[in-house]
Amino acid sequence: MTGVRVDHAVTSGTFSLDGETHQVDNNLWVVGDDEECLVIDAPHSVEDILAVVDGRRVKAIVCTHAHDDHVRVAPALREAVRAPILLHPDDRPLWELTHPDELWDADLSDGQVIEIGDTAVTVLHTPGHAPGAVCLSVPSLGCVFTGDTLFQGGPGATGRSFSDRPTIEASIRAKLFTLPGETVVHTGHGDDTTIAAEAAGLS
Ligand SMILES: [Zn+2]
Repeated sequence: MTGVRVDHAVTSGTFSLDGETHQVDNNLWVVGDDEECLVIDAPHSVEDILAVVDGRRVKAIVCTHAHDDHVRVAPALREAVRAPILLHPDDRPLWELTHPDELWDADLSDGQVIEIGDTAVTVLHTPGHAPGAVCLSVPSLGCVFTGDTLFQGGPGATGRSFSDRPTIEASIRAKLFTLPGETVVHTGHGDDTTIAAEAAGLS
């Protein structure tokens, strides 16, 4: 029996790209056991993230992509918890828009496995919403963290710079719709869904 669980909160702030700024609510996901955890994305507020971490050792800050509403406090969180920031290198141009003077610590790659407690988290490179967008699959928990690649209701937005609709659809079909249908989808914004529900919607 795994002691690994998912903890969640919602945190609010802004998202800016292409000269527009929007108010957004971001899901904040932490996966781990009583001892250690992974923080998935670093939106808006270090304090809100630390409340979910609840004193555990943070093994890494894993960024699903580098839009500013997902990485804004990543460097400050790194300072606070002494954990490395992980990002797919294809999101460098987006990262530099928010953090031109500092980098992340290690690159994510497709198929990479990150161990947390007794549980394996598999990195799936899913470009489209952003070139370096990744999803994080946790088969033993029956869930996948999709960032802004797949939401309840369909694929993430592709109308802005560095996004591409055919690319996100190809990513979702190849990397997400091949997961078991009952897999719970924990998204970057809004409610959970399942792979089966979204596969039925994108035909
Ligand atoms: Zn995004």
